Amino acid sequence: MSSSSITAVDQGRDLGRKIQPGPILLLGAPGVGKGTQAKELVKLWGIPQISTGDLLRANVAQGTQLGRVAKEIMGRGELVPDSLVNEMVAVRLLEPDTVRGYILDGFPRTLGQAHWLDGRLATQVESLPVVAVSIQVNYNQLLRRITGRRNCPVCQTIYNVYMNPPKKDGFCDVEGAALVQRADDTEEVFKERMRAYAALTAPVVDHYREQGRFAEVDGDRPIAAIAAGIVAAVERLRG
Ligand code: AMP
Repeated sequence: MSSSSITAVDQGRDLGRKIQPGPILLLGAPGVGKGTQAKELVKLWGIPQISTGDLLRANVAQGTQLGRVAKEIMGRGELVPDSLVNEMVAVRLLEPDTVRGYILDGFPRTLGQAHWLDGRLATQVESLPVVAVSIQVNYNQLLRRITGRRNCPVCQTIYNVYMNPPKKDGFCDVEGAALVQRADDTEEVFKERMRAYAALTAPVVDHYREQGRFAEVDGDRPIAAIAAGIVAAVERLRG
């Protein structure tokens, strides 16, 4: 990770430690930096990042039944059916590391998933309500982020060949491993993912906006500044 991420933790430390984080939703189009920001919040609050994209990719890599179904759908940039994703999230939320809170990254992505999550949390009287933070980045910027994105298969550090390149072209600064590009990070699949986002996920943003526990942050800034913005928003919403 770059020195900017350390700054993000430092900037957020005074603010972020005061609150019980509870369930946090990171919303936003593909490539806005949900994964990068979730990792910043993990360092700050010590609660887990639950990325449905990562969980699905792990299922694909392990060749599970879910992974076999999800692989082709993901390759086309479409969404995996709600019933399958909800079940996967339900199992993950039973893990004891979620008790103080968690960061959902890439979920909910449909109104069906949002209603399912609302219903699940309503049955858990001890759980704080969710707070949702949407990260905003314009379309052309997203395209550069997606097509330039590379990650280290060993430590999962995320680079961008245009905006945050590794010191040695094609290799991780930390591990020295050859960087990889996600199969769905092409321009063609990006366009389909954006169509799915506009049709199915944009209403989820409206859903949480209407509930009032919602904030938007400008994602076209350095990583540390965005992280500090998210921390401030969560603290305000929890206040
Ligand atoms: P991500 O890593 O969040 O960009 O997700 C990669 C792909 O996984 C998406 O394009 C979808 O095909 C699938 N996926 C991830 N999260 C969800 C979700 N909550 N609902 C349906 N499909 C999902």
